[in-house]
Amino acid sequence: MAANWTKQFSNYPLVTKSPECPTTAVHVGDITIGDGEFVVMAGPCSVESERQLLRTAEAVALAGAHILRGGAFKPRSSPYAFQGLGVDGLKILGKARELTGLAIVTEVLSETDVEVVAEYADIMQVGSRNMENVSLLERVGRCGRPVLLKRGMVATLEDLLGAAECIAANGNPNIMLCERGIRTFETATRNTFDIAAIPVLKTVSRLPVIVDPSHACGVRSLVPILARAGAVVGADGMIVEVHPDPNNALSDGDQSLTFEQFDAMMRDLGRYIQLVSESSCCCTSQSGGHS
Ligand code: PEP
Ligand code: MN
Repeated sequence: MAANWTKQFSNYPLVTKSPECPTTAVHVGDITIGDGEFVVMAGPCSVESERQLLRTAEAVALAGAHILRGGAFKPRSSPYAFQGLGVDGLKILGKARELTGLAIVTEVLSETDVEVVAEYADIMQVGSRNMENVSLLERVGRCGRPVLLKRGMVATLEDLLGAAECIAANGNPNIMLCERGIRTFETATRNTFDIAAIPVLKTVSRLPVIVDPSHACGVRSLVPILARAGAVVGADGMIVEVHPDPNNALSDGDQSLTFEQFDAMMRDLGRYIQLVSESSCCCTSQSGGHS
């Protein structure tokens, strides 16, 4: 263990805090991420059809989401599972943006898709399975769009910041870090939500931090409480899966909220977000870790 975080993360000058640059907010249209507002990105794991996505977009917008999520290129654990609609899915996302005004976050799986995904996406998502894909990181560094970088399943925070540095070093400082749970020996939840990652990243990094309570636990009933936890420890926002009919979703149905559950979660979250904004406890000191 490093003597302190400043030293541990010193190889990443473009993404760690400095006296001249303590934080960088990311701008997506008229939304600012990392400037005090808790920004909510919500939608289905996968874009399955125009009707499914448009219904979800309307429901999440009505409940207060700022940004619509939906995967068109899907990194599935099995090659036999639904792989996403590809470019047709991107076109559906484009239509949803047109109709609702919501900005779009969607995953880019491969370097060769960066250009076409950037045509439709307001935020390029680099998924956990690709956090260490250097050619993809370099390419999204040159894509001209903000990037949501998800923590790899077995990545340390140092690895995550190293990946972010790679994007920044290629010309793109508009990066958000995402804690989405890591692999541990625990099997009751899909992943283990590393709650301490959020205040550590908020302390050492200048980048906004987003939580993903859906992939962190894999269980619908736990999503609202993990979202609440993420907000309370200082995350700048969350990305969460919502589906009109989770039991029949083509991917990640078990962890997807219904419209009603999403609406209830958003109402509940309000008072916790308010609490944090009034709290004087914040993570700005750069010393820490074991000595
Ligand atoms: C997703 O957001 O649907 C996804 C595949 O996420 P992750 O990369 O965190 O597994
Ligand atoms: Mn998913």
